[in-house]
Amino acid sequence: MDFTFTDDEDTYRQELRRFTAKVLAPHYQSDDKAAKLRPQLVADMAAMGLTGLRIPEHHGGQEASAVLAGMAAEEVARGDFNASYLIIVSALVSDILTRNATGDQQARWLPPIASGEVVPAFCITEPGHGTDAAKLEMKAEPDGDGWRLTGEKTSITLGMSADVALVLARTGGPGARGVSAFWVELDAAHVSRSPFDDLGSRAIGRASLHFDGLPVPREALVGGEGQGFVSVMQGFDYSRAIIGLACLGAAQASLDEALQWARDREAFGSPIGTFQGVVFPLAEQATYLRGARHVCYEALWRKDNDLDHSTEAAMAKFWAPKLATETIHQCLLTFGHLGYSSESPVGQRLRDVIGLEIGDGTAQVSKLVIARNLLGRAFAP
Ligand SMILES: Cc1cc2nc3c(=O)[nH]c(=O)nc-3n(C[C@H](O)[C@H](O)[C@H](O)COP(=O)(O)OP(=O)(O)OC[C@H]3O[C@@H](n4cnc5c(N)ncnc54)[C@H](O)[C@@H]3O)c2cc1C
Repeated sequence: MDFTFTDDEDTYRQELRRFTAKVLAPHYQSDDKAAKLRPQLVADMAAMGLTGLRIPEHHGGQEASAVLAGMAAEEVARGDFNASYLIIVSALVSDILTRNATGDQQARWLPPIASGEVVPAFCITEPGHGTDAAKLEMKAEPDGDGWRLTGEKTSITLGMSADVALVLARTGGPGARGVSAFWVELDAAHVSRSPFDDLGSRAIGRASLHFDGLPVPREALVGGEGQGFVSVMQGFDYSRAIIGLACLGAAQASLDEALQWARDREAFGSPIGTFQGVVFPLAEQATYLRGARHVCYEALWRKDNDLDHSTEAAMAKFWAPKLATETIHQCLLTFGHLGYSSESPVGQRLRDVIGLEIGDGTAQVSKLVIARNLLGRAFAP
């Protein structure tokens, strides 16, 4: 067993920590108030290589391991949880494209993601189908040599800002095998957008995208016809652990601040850190955070070593966002009335991490995966 990171990984973590503190953290709260994606944020993340982490070097990316991508999400989220969405979405999309797109397609699509020239989105959820995504109804109707996409995608992260999207639509019969994946430009002539007014992650935003017969050529098909659903679900496996680390990064930042407050704040003539009623809950959260972090990194390490990691990634996804929410809540209470003010970033972190208890699949879906892996497919509902 070896619970240490390599020297290179440690150096990278330190570099990210400095970048996050200096470049990202100062905008975390003002971006939330502005409630829109700040172009300079994308530029800064791209300049640091964070939009191309999982893209091969010859396509302009970093070709980073899954572990490093998770580390990047964790560190970035300490200073700006919402910036970690740019890592999560680009890593998910580029991993799917790297595994399923042809060499030509990758050469066209991946470099602009890495450079930050385009912001990608990922479109699977529909008004009638979220958890039961395999039943999605968006139509891809044959049109000449290609298709036309018609229908609504909803709850799409970066939906108001994205230039391009991986869109799942039905080319065949019912069920997962009738679904194909397309890489499309979100052309305003055929795609209209309506924003959500969200509780958190307002700097990233979600939107509904209405596709009104968007023409897509054959070259936009990712993988084979009818293979879209399966290839996307494989991508989710590891992105779930990256999401877990982003949530834990925000929780760890809150815990560090709460511990410092426990040293500094006095009540009844002593620092509140001398009261076990204050520090035991923080000690418990620190313990749980460490456990969840191990699960996330184990999932990513297994991915890097070509070992099955679906159980670990599902454990990471169900546990880490929930734990982060609980930890941040506990930290907020530690600050007393100050934690309840928007002057403190803690309340915003709470609003922000709750979104990822739902986004990318709820805890129930993760538990279905875990239970299926524990009991066997015969026990899947
Ligand atoms: C912050 C955020 C970002 C998102 N980003 C994207 C994105 O970029 N792209 C995208 O396509 N989608 C995105 N989503 C949508 C997200 O993937 C869906 O919200 C999620 O899959 C759940 O679907 P639903 O909301 O329709 O809930 P439903 O499927 O309607 O479920 C409602 C409730 O029932 C539970 N439930 C459903 N089925 C079962 C079952 N079989 N057993 C037990 N419980 C069950 C669910 O857990 C949930 O609590 C995002 C959502 C959020 C909140």
